[in-house]
Amino acid sequence: MSNKFCDLKRMEDKIKTFATYGDAGHGGITRYSLSQEAIQAREEFTKRMEAIGAEITVDDMANMYTTIPGSDPNAKRIVMASHIDSVKNGGNYDGILGVISAMEVLETIVEQNIPHKHPITAMIWTNEEGSLYPPAMMSSGVICGKFNKDTMLRSKSVLDRETTFEEALARSGYAGTVENRLNPNDYKCMLELHIEQGPILEAANKDIGVVTCVLGMINYRIRTYGQADHAGTTPMKYRQDALYASAQILTYLHNELDKLDPELVYTTGEIKCHPCVHTVIPDFVDFSIDARHEDPKVIEQVVDVINNMPKEVAKCKVDYEKAWARDTVYFDKELVEFVKASADEAGISNKYINSGAGHDAQFVSDMIPTTMVFVPSKDGHSHCEPEFTSVDQCTNGASVMLNTVLKIDAK
Ligand SMILES: [Zn+2]
Repeated sequence: MSNKFCDLKRMEDKIKTFATYGDAGHGGITRYSLSQEAIQAREEFTKRMEAIGAEITVDDMANMYTTIPGSDPNAKRIVMASHIDSVKNGGNYDGILGVISAMEVLETIVEQNIPHKHPITAMIWTNEEGSLYPPAMMSSGVICGKFNKDTMLRSKSVLDRETTFEEALARSGYAGTVENRLNPNDYKCMLELHIEQGPILEAANKDIGVVTCVLGMINYRIRTYGQADHAGTTPMKYRQDALYASAQILTYLHNELDKLDPELVYTTGEIKCHPCVHTVIPDFVDFSIDARHEDPKVIEQVVDVINNMPKEVAKCKVDYEKAWARDTVYFDKELVEFVKASADEAGISNKYINSGAGHDAQFVSDMIPTTMVFVPSKDGHSHCEPEFTSVDQCTNGASVMLNTVLKIDAK
């Protein structure tokens, strides 16, 4: 099969244009789902897709689908999707690049008149970040049966703690119908292009990440219990300081977990300290530990380390609780190899990689065959304004997705 290539100038124009919707004024964007800025981005998407004659539909969670027909009216759709919302003070690539690339694939197919059998769809997932209305991956969670829709509709804005997602959805004018949802009868498979959000591709000097899986993870809460006393009148040897005990447990965990597989990643990102007053010795601390690895055996070893923590430290009782866990999600092997072959045949450097971050694609992969394409993140940055991927790298990513779509179509 001959390689097709996407248009660098058109990619650059889209990247620049979408970066204006929610421009925070210092190189990045704040574009919460269904905000005015997000609606502007949806209008831009609509305008450009109408210009190539794509048909636009919207489902009940405001997910948008724009489709160009194939030669076989009975063939299922091949869909490419990502999100257009961002975190607060996020960058110009996370999510939106997947949508821009999906648009670019459709534009290239139409412009070059590339024959294809299946209808091909570019799609926007609503509220992937969950920055304003938690949780993350809200709409794919609803469509793929992971989250209860009514519960999601009641999600409250983290800013005013009052406005619900349901109200934002109604106000946006983008609430469509249930019949338009992504479903296995009408859709053959899904591809999601995304920035890597880490430093691995750049360090390996590769332009494409052939994503094989989303890492399994566990999340535990660890608690230490002390005694609140006066910070000035209690000699050190009488204290039961829950924060000091937590610090020791955290150090213990780092020492033990660092003995496990070097690809294991783990984080304590949240800590609650009671009463959190500078004149009072803390009597209670609760902190998170999030650990991720592809191999469930390594995750089991992490659980062993947690199970074997000291039950008492610095005269404070220690206990823990599993908050939640998810297994590694493997992407469709055939699609993964199509991505690899598309990059190889186009002469674009690539390597297999896993995703440490969650994506809509991980939910969709339970419903229809799914995979992802990664492009490098400069210095590994993401969820921040310095996020950057060169136009060359972005266009290479779109070209790999285009050729992957054509391989799926020809199969
Ligand atoms: Zn994203």
